[in-house]
Parts: sequence; C-alpha cells; structure tokens
Amino acid sequence: MSTLELNYQHVLQRLQQACTQSNRSSQSVRLLAVSKTKPATMVEAVYALGQRSFGENYLQDGMDKITALTHLHDIEWHFIGPLQSNKTRPVAEHFQWVETVDREKIARRLSEQRPADMKALNVLVQVNISAEEQKAGVLPDEARALCQLISELPNLCLRGLMCIPEATGDEQRLSTQLQAMQALYQQLAAEFPAMDTLSMGMSGDMELAIACGSTEIRIGTDIFGARDYPANNPPNN
Ligand SMILES: *Cc1c(COP(=O)(O)O)cnc(C)c1O
Repeated sequence: MSTLELNYQHVLQRLQQACTQSNRSSQSVRLLAVSKTKPATMVEAVYALGQRSFGENYLQDGMDKITALTHLHDIEWHFIGPLQSNKTRPVAEHFQWVETVDREKIARRLSEQRPADMKALNVLVQVNISAEEQKAGVLPDEARALCQLISELPNLCLRGLMCIPEATGDEQRLSTQLQAMQALYQQLAAEFPAMDTLSMGMSGDMELAIACGSTEIRIGTDIFGARDYPANNPPNN
C-alpha cells in the first residue's frame, strides 16, 4: 500500500471510531479531503480510493486541478479559502460548494455569477466562533442575518455553517468553542430547513469535532502529508 493509501485508510478508521464513540453513524460525517497545494495526480489517486469531496483554499491552485480533472464526473469541489469579492466568478462557475461566505457582498455576487445551467451553489456561512480579531467569519450573533439573506438568494443553497476554531493546545478551550458552534448550528438549522452541514474538525481535532456534532471534517495533512508551501507563503491567489 502507498503512504497515501495508508494515510487515507487511517483517517477513515479514525472517522469511524469517533462516530462509534459518539453513537453516530459514520454516514453522518462527510470526509472532505483538503488537497490545497497538492498536485492533481494526488487528487486522482485519492479519488481512485473512493474519495469524492475535495477542498481547495487557493483559487488558481484549485482551478488548475479542476481543469485537469474534468474527466472525473462525480468529483465534488469545495472552496474553503478566504474569498475576495473580485475573485468570486471562477468560484461561482466551477465549484459545487463554498464554505467561507462571511459577508453580504460575496453572497450576492456568487448568486449573480452562478451560471443558469448549474445547480444552486451550496453555501456555508463561516463563523468566527472564537471571536478572534482579524479572523475571517461572522461573529456568532451576526450569523442569523447572513443566513436569512443567503436563503433568499436564487442561485445559492444555504447548507450550514463552518468554523476554524482557535489554534490552541487547550483542549477545554477548544471544546467550549466547538460546543458553542454546535449550539448555534442547532438553533439556525431549526429555522433554515435546507441546513444539514456543520463543517468543523481538521487533522488535529477531528475526534473532538465529531463528538461535538460535526457533519463534515476537513482533513489535509493527515491524508496528503505536510504541505509544500509554508502557510505564510501561499501560492498566488
Ligand atoms: C488547510 C485547511 C484544512 C486542513 O487542515 P489540516 O490540519 O492540514 O488537516 C481545513 N480547513 C481549512 C479551512 C484549511 O485551510
């Protein structure tokens, strides 16, 4: 077995175990393979193992792979990076999901630019659950208003919420944030019936996130290995 296959099977095992521990079906958690900075050949190799959903952070890096892999008809691309309003068009035209919508202007542009012959673009509202300054995402008490707006836009489908909790080694602190996210999600999902997705949990905290009700974990490092670009020097967006 290749390292990539071993890594992938190990993540699937961890997902399964975490679900069992929380009395949840493993079908209730989607695995998003975060392939940012990794080549199309690696995406194709993980696709061959049965994986269908892939996450990209950088527009050009993601578009290169989408273009190279159009023969994989049932592959599903999620945009999970920071999105500037002048870069919304390629996202609206080529991705099935956007997980990082945090303001009205971006939502409106995505809806306007979604091609008429494509299904509605699935949208998650990014929530700054740790209320850190300079961090992307709406504050928790602003989430409802943005959800309302998105639910009324014709070419978007409001599917749920996403967060990147504080990078902290303090498990209790992290757990408090993930639980706050779960509570916010439950409250809004009761109001917006199309909501079925709570995207939280990465390589380091997927078990805790699943225990807190995550329905989608976003795993990069533990599948693909360490990234080729340092975080402070991403490829051109
Ligand atoms: C890179 C990234 C991930 C994956 O993180 P890993 O720790 O490598 O698993 C998940 N979500 C977002 C938004 C990311 O940018």
